[in-house]
Amino acid sequence: MTNSQEPKAILFLDFDGTISSRDAVDAILEAYADPAWLAFEAEWRAGLIGSRDCLRAQMELVRATRTQIDALLDEIGVDEDLLALLELSAAHYIPTHIVSDGFDYCIRRILATANKRIAPLLRSGRVCAAHLEGRGHLWSTEFPFFHQTCGHGCATCKPAVMRLLNKTNAQAIFVGDGLSDRYAVESADLVFAKNGLSSYCTEHSIAHTPYENLGDVAAYLHDWLTARRFLREETLFRVSA
Ligand SMILES: [Mg+2]
Ligand SMILES: [Zn+2]
Repeated sequence: MTNSQEPKAILFLDFDGTISSRDAVDAILEAYADPAWLAFEAEWRAGLIGSRDCLRAQMELVRATRTQIDALLDEIGVDEDLLALLELSAAHYIPTHIVSDGFDYCIRRILATANKRIAPLLRSGRVCAAHLEGRGHLWSTEFPFFHQTCGHGCATCKPAVMRLLNKTNAQAIFVGDGLSDRYAVESADLVFAKNGLSSYCTEHSIAHTPYENLGDVAAYLHDWLTARRFLREETLFRVSA
């Protein structure tokens, strides 16, 4: 490989529901928050508030010890083909980052209890997410990416983080599953979408490749990378199909 400094692509993975088998934030809220969290969720879904204000308000309604939160997170698994996808991106020198509207604490805990071979493969990538801090029964939030709120009101602004991490303007691949990915797909060259995100892309005529699990993504990317097919050609094909 003569050109490994300039990756031809960069991979961005959503975490909750894409890597993890269920949304960790929803699991915490369902188990330990005052039911008023649902009102904030509805406001966010309706586009009335951004995810930053939503998460901050929701986490203030949580009463749980660290032991309780950890036990809950330890029940959440990851997509069984995550390892295959990470091995593929490593073999092709594709930098791989997690961009999440959820919390660093949950991501690190869930990944640490998953397959031991996963963590080393993610070591060169970043985990961009909001920060969660527990004190007794109370949990507070911080938003290190970025301190100022973006125009969407994101907890972690995925398109802004993607631009920041993609210094060489490589082809940006994004894999996601839900409404928190709606801004990210507009900044990606190749989009893999399932569930709510797939519906959103269809409704808004955003070219995307549907998938069911990360094994589908790995298989598609393997063909894409080894055949050296041109992205533009494929995007046009999917739009006109
Ligand atoms: Mg998600
Ligand atoms: Zn944003």
